[in-house]
Amino acid sequence: MLLAHRIRLEPSLDQRDYFARAAGTARRVWNWALAEWQRQVALGLRPNAMALKKRFNSIKYTDPDWLDEHGQPWLRTIHRDAHAQPFANLARAWTRYVEQRRAGQPAHQPRFKKKGRCRDSFYLANDKFEMDGTAVVLPKIGRVLLRERLRWPGKIMGASVSRQADHWYLSVQVEVPEQLAHRSRTGDAVTGVDLGLSAAAALSSGEKIVAPRPLKAALRRLRIRSRRQSRKLEAAKQVSGITGPIPKGTRLPVSKNRTKGALSLARLHERITQVRADIGFHAIRRQLQYKSARYGTRIVLAGRWYPSSKLCSGCGVRNGKLALSERVWTCAACGIRHDRDVNAAVNLQRLATGTLAARTALPEASQAVTPGTAAGTVPAAGGEVTPVRHEYGQQDGSGQEEYAAHVCARF
Ligand SMILES: [Zn+2]
Repeated sequence: MLLAHRIRLEPSLDQRDYFARAAGTARRVWNWALAEWQRQVALGLRPNAMALKKRFNSIKYTDPDWLDEHGQPWLRTIHRDAHAQPFANLARAWTRYVEQRRAGQPAHQPRFKKKGRCRDSFYLANDKFEMDGTAVVLPKIGRVLLRERLRWPGKIMGASVSRQADHWYLSVQVEVPEQLAHRSRTGDAVTGVDLGLSAAAALSSGEKIVAPRPLKAALRRLRIRSRRQSRKLEAAKQVSGITGPIPKGTRLPVSKNRTKGALSLARLHERITQVRADIGFHAIRRQLQYKSARYGTRIVLAGRWYPSSKLCSGCGVRNGKLALSERVWTCAACGIRHDRDVNAAVNLQRLATGTLAARTALPEASQAVTPGTAAGTVPAAGGEVTPVRHEYGQQDGSGQEEYAAHVCARF
């Protein structure tokens, strides 16, 4: 099983400088390859990444574009993986674009990367670096300290170094042997999980997992810092005599305070990303999928329109008028008082076991959904068609969880 571990790096100043140059190289090579690709397409040719890479290799130490001010090929100072990988990435990006177009999904062509606007990263093949306890030994720069040890045993498949705000991270992909990746289960039950807005997750056992509080404070700070930053930007515009949107290609006067503000804003965004990673729908689902694969657990995913909140888990009657603001409600038919989220989780648990189907006209999901089967559709109450998708370690980009995702998991 392929698992990734992202570890914060503690680089020295020289090492940070190298990282920035290597990421810049990867970006520049990507842009070169993409421009060549587009040029060939315009000429009616069929570009291919391997041929482009070969061509690049033949010019990279001689072409004036790739020489420094002393006429030296600066690419020699950067390890070659950083400028070889963009070709493979570009080929993959085009393939993905074509596949998405063919499947009728929204897709955009690979774009040029712009400094400061793209993710700074570069790749390392598995035979080019070595993990050494709380350090990693990288080509050209040697040992870089890590904040923690590599979590997974197994064969290292590759790694990438990337920047977020002003921190650098090493993401190591490890092929973990199945017998090590698989954990034995201690329980064998079906639990309904409702991913919601107020509680991060509610379980059918009545337990609620609350969103971490730091998020609220961080979001408030984000508003304040964004406002300060936009004032600094307005001031810079006034100095340059610009009204309205800033024309493309304009360079505003450099301001240390604006740069500092931008950095503190980026750090805050990074922190919020980390906090959100505990509570985001997509992240929770991905974690559940990856954990369940390790534990041999089966996940049943309910469709977005499955009315899990509106059904009474006591008598099965549907409360069509239930508003999102009603956190507690009483069933008109049987008089049971429900906590909105827990009731939903109980319904989802039953959806997975099939007991709800017997009581209402709702579909049974557990038998229809087995590992490896294709997506099936089952009719839901009210005549809607709800896709029940089984996802076993695969991701989708359907944006299913715009409001709420419902997951039934067997823990
Ligand atoms: Zn009821």
